[in-house]
Amino acid sequence: MSPAFPNGAPSEPASNTSAPSDLATRLETVRVGVADAARTAGREPADITTIVVTKFHPVSLLEELYALGVRNMGENRHQEAQSKAASLADLDLVWHFVGQIQGKKARQVRAYANVIHSVDRESLVTALASEESTIDCFIQVNLTDDAARGGVHPANLSALVDSALIAPGVRLLGLMAVAPLGEEPRRAFAHVRELSEQIRQQAPAATALSMGMSQDYAAAVLEGATHLRIGTAITGNRPVL
Ligand SMILES: *Cc1c(COP(=O)(O)O)cnc(C)c1O
Repeated sequence: MSPAFPNGAPSEPASNTSAPSDLATRLETVRVGVADAARTAGREPADITTIVVTKFHPVSLLEELYALGVRNMGENRHQEAQSKAASLADLDLVWHFVGQIQGKKARQVRAYANVIHSVDRESLVTALASEESTIDCFIQVNLTDDAARGGVHPANLSALVDSALIAPGVRLLGLMAVAPLGEEPRRAFAHVRELSEQIRQQAPAATALSMGMSQDYAAAVLEGATHLRIGTAITGNRPVL
């Protein structure tokens, strides 16, 4: 219970923007937005997984999200993700790794991540292969001309799909992409959907599409996204470290 205000209710609303009630409000706003976009697309909201990207935020924020029912957490930096996953090992969370991965860190990421969204080269597939366990993966496609952005160039996608299919312990769920800045996101997502349709001939089970972020998730849902990676629209602005 909140304390009574003997001098009347305070005239100023609480200004702490990280209060749980604000987090709950933003989460609910995104849930409604996803459901609306799904309805527009003639899709079931339940077929869309919203991953809350919590990078740069403290473990306490992830605990608040958990209390609000969130189970899918996304991180993009290995050390931060590893430490958060260790701190929250008692919770039934699904950890999605969405950042670029150095080859020498691949097995460490595999140890705590449930899903890796950023497989973008054959050497990484090899590093993730295992005879003991299976890791769910997306192949990230680079829709820009900037090779530093991560992701495989569409021209090299088919070969990478083949390596993922033959690697033991690597289960290919589908494709992941980030809409390039300055391009109409829906066009970019339509392109990813076309690439996804092309690779079905090689990989019929790789039907998932990880695309859509805070600013463009509705467009992604309209183009068939199954996994949205949403940060700031839910978490609020990321703290500057
Ligand atoms: C940070 C990040 C997101 C979330 O971005 P927002 O704009 O905050 O929603 C999604 N995908 C990847 C790969 C990211 O690094």
